[in-house]
Parts: sequence; structure tokens; C-alpha cells
Amino acid sequence: ARKFFVGGNWKCNGTTEEVKKIVAMLNEGKVPSQDVVEVVVSPPFVFLPLVKSLLRPDFHVAAQNCWVKKGGAYTGEVSAEMLVNLDIPWVIIGHSERRLILGESNEFVGDKVAYALSKGLKVIACVGETLEQREAGSTVEVVAAQTKAIAERITSWDNVVVAYEPVWAIGTGKVATPAQAQEVHFELRKWLHANTSPEVAASTRIIYGGSVNGANCKELGAQPDVDGFLVGGASLKPEFIDIIKAAE
Ligand code: 13P
Repeated sequence: ARKFFVGGNWKCNGTTEEVKKIVAMLNEGKVPSQDVVEVVVSPPFVFLPLVKSLLRPDFHVAAQNCWVKKGGAYTGEVSAEMLVNLDIPWVIIGHSERRLILGESNEFVGDKVAYALSKGLKVIACVGETLEQREAGSTVEVVAAQTKAIAERITSWDNVVVAYEPVWAIGTGKVATPAQAQEVHFELRKWLHANTSPEVAASTRIIYGGSVNGANCKELGAQPDVDGFLVGGASLKPEFIDIIKAAE
């Protein structure tokens, strides 16, 4: 069985004071045990050590990005080695905001996933179509191409969680319906079955992201191929605890 996974992507938000408040809120939350749900929160790089030092031990931290290869003369970048050095176990790679605003290609994202895994990081790899692509009927083709660029570059999926985040649902309040999410998650699993192995398809968690909140999480999480969430806006609020409880 795939353990439910709930990630909180804080994006580019927070001050030291706000971050401390969010962590205090998380630390007080009553949630199912680690046997039932894996919880990972992802603050901006600069707050990672602070959050890691204050956060309850049953929750883990993720960086929101890392450099594509070994560090060096790459001004402004943070390497996978640095995350490992700080004992940061997870990294989000290929978020649509990086693909679309920062211009990260499928190949570049695939290279990043492979490099991060090779250094021992666990990866939340994001895929998802734009509204234009959905309306053109190319959703499955788009997410398959994004997944293929990763699959071609890695040998094990053990430390990968796939996050399906339709771009039109991110930060818009326009959540995918449970049926829309299930359909794409099913197609992604089918793709993994055909292109990696039946074992990888059965064991890899595919989580949904895009306007998940306390009110819609239960029904989304009940879909057979939805193994959890990657939460943006609501991960900064007490509501995040309710979303974690959708694991039960
Ligand atoms: P929202 O939950 O704010 O729509 O963001 C989703 C997301 O991008 C998580 O990575």
C-alpha cells in the first residue's frame, strides 16, 4: 500500500516571525501517525535550518529547488550537496512556477531529478498541463512527456513522489474535480506501468496539487490513484492540519 503523503509548499512567503508561527501551529496539530501519513513542509531556502530546528520530529522538510549538478560557479544557486550537508531530506523539483516563470525545460528538470537522487535526496517531481494544453486535449501527452524526461534519466523510483499539479488549478481556487484528478493520476500510473515496471507503477505515490483546501481534500484523497497532496496557499494556515487528516 502507498503511504499517504502531504506536502506543504510555502513558495516565496514568510518572515522569520511568520515562519515561527506556522511551525508552532504545525507542532500543535493533532494528526495521524507516521505509519499513516508522511508530512513534508517546504519553506524557502533561507528558513530551512530554522524550520528544521523547530519542527516536530514526525514532520520533515524539503527544499523548493536545487541546482542541476555539482555546485561551483553558479551564482544564486543552491546545490544538492548543500541540502545533504544540512540534512534536508527532500527537494521539490520541476514545480510549474519554475518551468513556466524560470524557463525550466523537461530535460533540465529530468537532469535535476537524477542529480538530486544520485546525492541521496528524496524528490517531489512536479508535472502538469496549462489550461491551453488541457483545452487542446493534450493533458495526458504533456504529463507523459514530463514524466518520460525524468524516467529516462533515473534508475530507481524508490525516492520519488510524483506531484500532478494542473497549472490552471494552482493558486486560482479552481480545484480539479476529484474525477479530473483521478483521470490524470490513473493515466500517469498507466504510463509508469508501461514504461518503467508494474512494481514502480504500483508503489510510486502520485499526489495532487492545485487549490487543495480543508473542504475539498477528503473527496480528492479518496480517489484510488490520489496518494496525497502538494498544498500551496492552505499550507500556511491551520487548515493544513485538516488536510493532513484526510489521510485517515
Ligand atoms: P495552491 O495550493 O496555492 O493552489 O498551490 C499549489 C501548488 O503549487 C503546490 O506546489
